[in-house]
Amino acid sequence: MPTSSPLPAVDRVLNLPAMQPMIDRFGRTQVVETVRGLLDESRAAWRNGLPGGALSEDEAAARCAGRLAEAERSSLRPVFNLTGTVLHTNLGRALLPAEAVRAVADVLARPCSLEFDLEDGRRGERDAHVEKLLCRLTGAEAATVVNNNAAAVFLALNTLAARKEAIVSRGELVEIGGAFRVPDIMARAGCRLREVGTTNRTHLQDFSQAVTPKTALLLKVHTSNYAIVGFTSAVPETELARQARDHGLPFMVDLGSGTLVDLSRWGLPPEPTAQQALAAGADLVTFSGDKLLGGPQAGIIVGRQDLIAKIRKNPLKRCLRLDKMTLAALEAILRLYRDPDRLAERLPTLRLLTRTAGEIEAAAGRVLPALRDRLAGSYRVSSCPCTSQVGSGSLPVERLASHGIAIRPANVGRGSGASLDKLAAAFRALPVPVIGRIEDGALVFDLRCLEDETGFVAQLSSLSLETKPARRLSPSPAGGRGPG
Ligand SMILES: *Cc1c(COP(=O)(O)O)cnc(C)c1O
Repeated sequence: MPTSSPLPAVDRVLNLPAMQPMIDRFGRTQVVETVRGLLDESRAAWRNGLPGGALSEDEAAARCAGRLAEAERSSLRPVFNLTGTVLHTNLGRALLPAEAVRAVADVLARPCSLEFDLEDGRRGERDAHVEKLLCRLTGAEAATVVNNNAAAVFLALNTLAARKEAIVSRGELVEIGGAFRVPDIMARAGCRLREVGTTNRTHLQDFSQAVTPKTALLLKVHTSNYAIVGFTSAVPETELARQARDHGLPFMVDLGSGTLVDLSRWGLPPEPTAQQALAAGADLVTFSGDKLLGGPQAGIIVGRQDLIAKIRKNPLKRCLRLDKMTLAALEAILRLYRDPDRLAERLPTLRLLTRTAGEIEAAAGRVLPALRDRLAGSYRVSSCPCTSQVGSGSLPVERLASHGIAIRPANVGRGSGASLDKLAAAFRALPVPVIGRIEDGALVFDLRCLEDETGFVAQLSSLSLETKPARRLSPSPAGGRGPG
């Protein structure tokens, strides 16, 4: 029985000429740790009589190089979103334009006037960088911003309705993916939910009958990710607002996506704007920064001066406040809205949403030959019409006509499903992973969000069709149907 494994000593491996460049690049500590780890694994394999129990010095060096390169790759990486969901929560939602990226880089590398009033040289207010813009764009008296819309709803409820009741229609007790459920948020905010009406129909008198001395506010929640159709009735915002005013209560609207422009201007289905909600009489309106607004993750609260002042004074505001990167990006995005005529060119979200099926079909024609070349023999590649969706719970039932590429195994039959999974995994393993969706026996790439065609085609030569068995990713590649 052998007494020691046939493995090289750590020092012998480290002294190989091939190791010096690795030490220069990654530092001695990391290299030593990696070599030790490799040798430990081999020793364990050798002891248990498993494969991999023998390793030459050169093999150890080569494997070490591979591991270091792998470890260096960021976990959070850019990808090609070819899922057809424009605001894909799992893929980072809205993409920011160069103006916003520059603004973020500027405040990161240098000190900035985050909470400093440059006019009088005294302490300033961080929300001030976006408040005026938000007021101008929405017509609100005041505005404040927090980490995301979930935080906005939470903070507003906690400020205005803790230990009291908020009245909401049963049809609006929505769950947005990723653990945002209106009833749970209310409970955590310390306020009691008073649900009124039925799932499909709620009337004004349902609200008026529910008002008691315990009532703190009336709430309307945008039913972001579903639609109630058929025999339905909801109370218009103007009437809810009047009802609230008659009882001296605030009326709050959680718009979810909330845009600042009328999307029908670009032929898109309409989505309520913050201006409309305020004009209809809402005292507070909350919405997301990274949904249809097309900005960074943020929660925006606009509305009555006195209510916003109260919200600002809540100690929880400090826990939910925005950092300078987000504020810089948000300010840059809001500036773009001051010039709505050029918004569709400058704001990536709107640019992608307004691409026509014809434009996208032309893109499919341009990338098709390279894909056919690369996949010849094993797969059939064709250009096909498909439909995109906005995503993140915006306009849930609307579909946008789009165009894509469908890839099917050349021999359909048993095992072709596994073959598609393998193909999807190979595309995810590219330097810039490509994420599509599997649909009707094909891997489909919706090209609505493909802007860098050159980069997409250039990396196809790295596509390795002999990859390890597909690792099932969760959520599924199609994912992102829920906005959370
Ligand atoms: C998306 C959404 C939220 C949560 O917004 P985040 O910015 O994702 O936190 C809350 N309410 C509604 C109605 C939504 O659509």
